[in-house]
Amino acid sequence: MADLDVMRLRRDFPILERRVHDAPLVYLDSAASTQKPTAVLDALQDFYRGHYANVHRGAYTLSAEATDRFEAARARVGRFINAPTDRSVVFVRNATEGINLVAHAWGRHELVAGDEIVVTVAEHHANLVPWHLLAAERKVVIRGVPLGGDGRVDLDAMAATIGPRTRMVATFHVSNVLGVVNDLARIAAMAHAVGALLLVDGAQAVAHLPVDVQALGADAYVFSGHKVGAPTGIGVLWAREELLSSWPPFMGGGEMIRTVTVESSTYADVPARFEAGTPAIAEAVGLHAALDYLDGVGLDAIWAHDRELGRYALERLQALDGITLYGPEGDDRGGIVPFNVDGVHPHDVASALDAAGIAVRAGHHCAQPLMSALGVQSTARASFWLHTTHGEIDRLVEELVVVRDFFAVNA
Ligand code: PMP
Repeated sequence: MADLDVMRLRRDFPILERRVHDAPLVYLDSAASTQKPTAVLDALQDFYRGHYANVHRGAYTLSAEATDRFEAARARVGRFINAPTDRSVVFVRNATEGINLVAHAWGRHELVAGDEIVVTVAEHHANLVPWHLLAAERKVVIRGVPLGGDGRVDLDAMAATIGPRTRMVATFHVSNVLGVVNDLARIAAMAHAVGALLLVDGAQAVAHLPVDVQALGADAYVFSGHKVGAPTGIGVLWAREELLSSWPPFMGGGEMIRTVTVESSTYADVPARFEAGTPAIAEAVGLHAALDYLDGVGLDAIWAHDRELGRYALERLQALDGITLYGPEGDDRGGIVPFNVDGVHPHDVASALDAAGIAVRAGHHCAQPLMSALGVQSTARASFWLHTTHGEIDRLVEELVVVRDFFAVNA
């Protein structure tokens, strides 16, 4: 596998030419959202300029073209994640909506009081709060699995937590804080052994490593377009077709029906059943272009690059006094590096870095249970992608030394 030609790839992202506070932009927040390559921007322009109309309705040429492109995007997603059929690919707004859809369509339909949903302490709030809402309504029990001493999900604890009442294990593919890959093969085996489903939150995975929903043993998988180089407002829920087909609708409206009278309706087959209203049409076309782009670059090469950058950042930051790092080390860790400068609030760290043109995130990263487990309120977080260079990590390290020393002198 060839190394990425990062300097060439950088030219695909116009925003990387920007300067911020008179310094070259160093964008280290790809885990929050990715920047967009020209191929995606051009696909949006081309679609709006030449082919735009509403989908699935008109008998006229433009509507047929728009529908073809929208459905081609669905097929592209299916190929990208190796879905057995495109009918099992539902367009939603983002990963959050995908999980809420499952909680409503599956959870409210299938669960009874005392049923259990197993999550881990390292889930994003998007994979906790929908279950809390369901629990309040259905008296379902949410059970959390802790991290082990090595900073990964404790699989022995998970085995002990999963039991005869477990109906779903809902967990991340790649952690948005720890950067680590979850051992989904083992988790799938544990879930399936008791007849539970496995829902995978792939928000941090799809743009970073090859994803094959069948090989993973997932029953449902969600991700957001905006984290894979595509526009905001488009996301994907994939679920096994026989499951999806057995769930009632989540939202009602146009597009998702078969027949409607004043008193009642019957519903379309999947995926239309779960796509009420006018969808994010151009955004789906943009997602298609983003997935083509990622395939062109190569997911194996992106993952190798991510891991190398993660390793390099940890090595450089470990060499500094006064910096605390979080998360495990190893080949199962990608390009997400949470850290704190001792005695300095992460928001102050992020603001000081911004003054030098460096964009990092600071806060609880929508993972408050994980922050508690790590014994912190919040952290700063640098996250990398295919356009990130070792030189940018060097810039981060240089500026962190300045920040650390400034606050030490002024403490
Ligand atoms: N899960 C994980 C692991 C995430 O990192 C994020 C985004 N930070 C989400 C879910 C939610 O994504 P979105 O806000 O696009 O729905």
